[in-house]
Amino acid sequence: MQDTKDMTLKEGIRIYFPKEELGRMVNQEGSRRQERFCAEKHLPMFAPKNGVCDFCHRPIYFGDDKHPAYSLEYAASHLITGCRNCGHSFVD
Ligand SMILES: [Zn+2]
Repeated sequence: MQDTKDMTLKEGIRIYFPKEELGRMVNQEGSRRQERFCAEKHLPMFAPKNGVCDFCHRPIYFGDDKHPAYSLEYAASHLITGCRNCGHSFVD
């Protein structure tokens, strides 16, 4: 036991924000930001509105160690045309 405080903190986060729920919330927010960015720039939104890649079925805006995703900042400032995880193109 090297750092009990940290473990307690992690446990608390797990209780109040289950990883799946947090991921869903972050991913929805990413999709909203991309939608807003496209509307403001008058660009077509290529990324699926549900925020999930239709090829690998991973969240587009919420990744983990093995599955890269776009950050919320990126979603708010770039046109997303493909999945960061599998490289699948959302165009056409
Ligand atoms: Zn994908």
